[in-house]
Formats: sequence, C-alpha cells, structure tokens
Amino acid sequence: MTHYENVVVTGGAGFLGSHLVDKLIFRGCNVTVIDNLSSGKIDNLRVSLTSGRLRVVIQDLKNVNDEWMAEFKNKDVVFHFAANPEVRVSVTDPQIHFEENLRVTFNVLEAMRKCDVPLIVFASTSTVYGDAKKIPTPEDYHPLEPISVYGAVKLACEVLIQTYSKLYGIRGLILRYANIIGARSTHGVIVDFIRKLRHNPKELEILGDGTQRKSYLHVSDAVDATLHALDVFVEGSLPCDVYNIGSEDWISVREIADIIVEEIGLENVKYVYKPMTADGRGWPGDVKFMLLDISKIKGTGWKPRLNSRDAVRKTVRELLGKE
Ligand code: NAD
Repeated sequence: MTHYENVVVTGGAGFLGSHLVDKLIFRGCNVTVIDNLSSGKIDNLRVSLTSGRLRVVIQDLKNVNDEWMAEFKNKDVVFHFAANPEVRVSVTDPQIHFEENLRVTFNVLEAMRKCDVPLIVFASTSTVYGDAKKIPTPEDYHPLEPISVYGAVKLACEVLIQTYSKLYGIRGLILRYANIIGARSTHGVIVDFIRKLRHNPKELEILGDGTQRKSYLHVSDAVDATLHALDVFVEGSLPCDVYNIGSEDWISVREIADIIVEEIGLENVKYVYKPMTADGRGWPGDVKFMLLDISKIKGTGWKPRLNSRDAVRKTVRELLGKE
C-alpha cells in the first residue's frame, strides 16, 4: 500500500535516486526531482519522464532560493539523496563534503520546515560506523567514529534530522546503505576496474592490498528495501528511526577483480597492488572491512534477493551491456 502520493527526490537524476524515481513512478506517485546534474543525468530518467508524473527541476540545493523551495509545498515525503558520494574526495577536499552534504541537508530540512513537509527519508551510509569493532555491525553500535569526512558529515546530517524531528515534528527515516551497485553507477570499485581494464587489458592497478572486504547490494534490492522500510515506518509512530540496508555477506576487492576479468573475457591480467596506508587501505579514510547487521530490516519482512557476489556479477554484466 502506498501511503504517500506527492514526493520530492533530491539527487533523483543520480544513480540510486533515478532507480528510486522509477519505482516511485511505477507505484503511482507524482515525483519532483531536484538535481543540479553535477553527477546525475537526465538520461537516467528517460523512462519515468514518459509517465507524465515526473517533474525535473534543475537547481543547486546549496543555494537557497524561492524557486526550488516552492517545490516542497504540498509534498508528503522528501527522499533526500543529493550528495557528493565520493569518500575519496572528502580526504583531499573536505570543504566539498561540508557544502554538498551538510549544508545541502540543512537547506533541505529548512525548506521542509517552512513548507510543512512531514517526513524525510535520508540516504546515509555504512561509513558512519568507521572501523567498527563489531562485524556484522548493528544500528545501535557505538561509539560512532567515522574515519572519513564523508562519514562524519553524513553522521552530522543524521543528528540534524533527529533534532529536527524532536523540535519541529518532521519524521525522519535514516537508511545506512552498504555499497550499492548496478546499472547507471558512475563511481566505485567496479566502474573503476572496468575503466582501467578497457584502457589496459594486461594490467590492473588495485588501490589497497586487495584484502579489503565489504558488503555489496544490488540497486534493485536497495530500492525495494527503501520503500519497504518507509512503509513500515509510516505505519509506526516513531519520530525517527534508523535501518541498515545491505546484504548478508561480503566480498574482497581481489574477488571483485577476478569476476570483472572473467566477465570481460580476459586472461593473465597482472594485478598491481597500491596500498595507500601502512595497513593496506585503498586511501586514507577507506574502511577496510564492512558488513552491516541487517537483522532489524529482516525482522520487518524484507531480505535481499542477491548476495554480494551475485550483485557484483550482475552489475558487471549490466555495465558491460550483457544484461
Ligand atoms: P550520485 O552521484 O549518482 O547521485 C547524487 C545526485 O545528487 C546526482 O544526481 C547529483 O547531480 C546530485 N547532486 C549533488 N549535489 C547536488 C546539489 N548541491 N544540488 C542538487 N543536486 C545535487 O550518487 P549515488 O551513489 O546515487 O548516491 C545517492 C545517495 O546515496 C547519496 O546521498 C550517497 O551519499 C548515498 N549513498 C550511496 C551509496 C552507494 O554505494 N552508491 C552508499 C551509501 C549511501
């Protein structure tokens, strides 16, 4: 059952946002996307645009103005997915993450407060846990000690949302996603390896020592989990809630490289490891081992269809145009 009809998706022209828009349109919602197209593309929305129920507003949410604020009037839910998701950038240029993630989230919350939007769904991340000592990591793990500025500002956004929910009654659903992969993705290890192997099919540079092990979730599962969690949240009465969204297993960077090499049809590719820290991380701020405990969302009746390995293979095939 759909409990909401008129929604805003910030960052809706991006990878995860556009898949979410497709599903919301399929469910019969009227969707307004606000996106500055810094990494998103209108082409990602081409199917949904034919529905007549999608409006796309090209605006930068860093700059407050009446034009985009007016788009928040008479909306039931804001899915706040606009961000700069590049963890690596946050190490070399922390200002970008302060502006694109924290300032933008503050602007979005203010627009919601002024326009009386009752509910925000926020795309948070596993990186808020930092180097967690407990794996799989549950939602109530503490202390939360992110090791990248990206993780730090996402955590700050979560706290802002919790405070807005207490002070102004805006309900907040915070979703901490594992690595989300699939068609239309433009960043991350799979995109990086495919690009490098196209350039040089004999050799692959692997950032880190290759033993980094993380959990991956296909975008189709991520979108299903998002709307499932929202349905559960809307039915309940909590002002704010947090769910981990991921798969139940993990895969090493080396295994990902093997799948990509196999799917492209290459042989005898030389792997050249480039550890960027003394303990073999891909870059300073890279969490080396990440697996989320997803018991909480599983307890509400959702579970992933694909494990990490199958999600990686499907994504590689999608990005190579095989599916
Ligand atoms: P993406 O870069 O494809 O999407 C982000 C979108 O936001 C883009 O369309 C971009 O143009 C837009 N945007 C950025 N800054 C903006 C601004 N100032 N004003 C308006 N629009 C702006 O990234 P994604 O991977 O689809 O990530 C979507 C969300 O999910 C982000 O919040 C990200 O932090 C979060 N997330 C993603 C993953 C993942 O693995 N992809 C994991 C955890 C959390």
